Amino acid sequence: MDVIRHHIGGTEAGAAERTGPVFDPATGAQVAQVAFASTAEVDAAIAVAVEAQRTWAAMGLVRRADVFFRMRQLLIERQDQIAAVITREHGKVLADAKGEISRGIENVEFAAGLVHLLKGEHSTQVAGGVDVHTLKQPVGVVGAITPFNFPVMVPLWMSASALAAGNAVILKPSEKDPSASVLLARLWEEAGLPPGVLNVVHGDKEAVDAILDSPAVGAVSFVGSTPIARSIYERAAGHGKRVQALGGAKNHMIVMPDADLDGAADAAVSAAYGSAGERCMAISVLVAVGDTTADALVAKVAERMARLRIGPGTDPASEMGPLITREHRDRVAGYVAGAAAEGATVVVDGTLAEFAGDGFFVGTSLVDHVRPGMRVYDDEIFGPVLSVVRAASYEEAVELVNANPFANGTALFTRDGGTARRFELDIQVGMVGINVPLPVPIGAYSFGGWKQSLFGDSHIYGPESIHFYTRSKVVTTRWPQPSESQIDLGFPSNH
Ligand code: NAD
Repeated sequence: MDVIRHHIGGTEAGAAERTGPVFDPATGAQVAQVAFASTAEVDAAIAVAVEAQRTWAAMGLVRRADVFFRMRQLLIERQDQIAAVITREHGKVLADAKGEISRGIENVEFAAGLVHLLKGEHSTQVAGGVDVHTLKQPVGVVGAITPFNFPVMVPLWMSASALAAGNAVILKPSEKDPSASVLLARLWEEAGLPPGVLNVVHGDKEAVDAILDSPAVGAVSFVGSTPIARSIYERAAGHGKRVQALGGAKNHMIVMPDADLDGAADAAVSAAYGSAGERCMAISVLVAVGDTTADALVAKVAERMARLRIGPGTDPASEMGPLITREHRDRVAGYVAGAAAEGATVVVDGTLAEFAGDGFFVGTSLVDHVRPGMRVYDDEIFGPVLSVVRAASYEEAVELVNANPFANGTALFTRDGGTARRFELDIQVGMVGINVPLPVPIGAYSFGGWKQSLFGDSHIYGPESIHFYTRSKVVTTRWPQPSESQIDLGFPSNH
């Protein structure tokens, strides 16, 4: 059985005394073991990063930018190989894997503008002979802890901007699909990143805690579930680090009676069942305003679900692949099984679908008459289950979304510009789509939710990430003639 090892200082490393299994979710077979780093191994990787960061930060900015242009090219040229690695351990269909690569490329393109992004400000003559300017300096070594669901895109969300700003990175990917991060580290080095600037350590809580506790790590970016995000935020902040910890989601899509219902049904099916619902921006709740809208939408969604093709991600005919693990598949099925007893109506029961082999497949489910207080509504299911909540009015629909503790993404479907504008202002969610079901911001903006979907105050990638991964310094200068020198014990005033 292959052992997937850490990537430290440009080479494979790790004793692999503790390991975890890695599966191909389409077959259910174990395909590799992944090494779990000890605290000592993580500390050794951090020491390598501290050394390498000095050289990287000293490199001329134009030469540093070249690495990002080459990395962009490599990601484009090798996308088939990268997508195959994603699909083998994650299970998503190859087209979806390529989609995540292309969104990650946007982050590399943004970071390639680092000469512009790292510019400071300058004010001349703020007082007689006095100038002021700012510097943006790297934080040093930053930790990047990533979830299973985007094994290429989320590591690029973090590493592109962190590296652009002159930092070294310790990347701890999900232990469920760890190979993509090792491949990315090799590509960065092929693009010209000096060895040791981006290191990959695999593992579980022990490896993560070693990153959070190390005095040499200045900032931590985390993406994953809400309970872990909260604990990462508290532990890392307790050590005085800056932290951005992005958590889970329950994304609502509101459909007004005036919306194009066919378009809304297409959008709901795509956003609920794409990547088997294992996206933090997946739509998991459809809020239909009015019973007529609800009845029509449920019928249109159910009709489209019947045509979805579920199968191995490597089969070009498949539109949806398996879930990440057997346990997760069973957990998702449990929510559908429990929904009827909670008083909801299971319109389509995906747990009844049968699949050949031992892959972690489940069919798509649609549950109507869902209400807050039901587990199917309250919990993040992270699977192909779409709940329908019926609201009597726009106000009731907005109130429902605003009362939810998660606030990652949301969407409104309407043809009325006035309602849409009102929604933008009323809704308490970080990312909002108007007739756009998955409003994932382009690389030139930053990504982040509110409330329990983000702990910390910086959104990830884009402009906010440059702020997060740099420390600013303000320098006040004066070049007096020796003859002007005098003693003055008063507080410096510029008036
Ligand atoms: P997870 O929280 O289980 O794991 C995320 C990372 O934390 C992994 O690297 C994992 O090894 C590590 N980890 C797990 N338990 C830990 C512990 N006790 N202590 C320290 N580290 C620990 O999440 P997941 O299942 O890999 O990913 C799915 C979740 O991620 C969903 O909740 C989804 O909504 C969320 N997510 C959020 C966003 C976002 O942008 N808000 C994006 C993608 C995924």
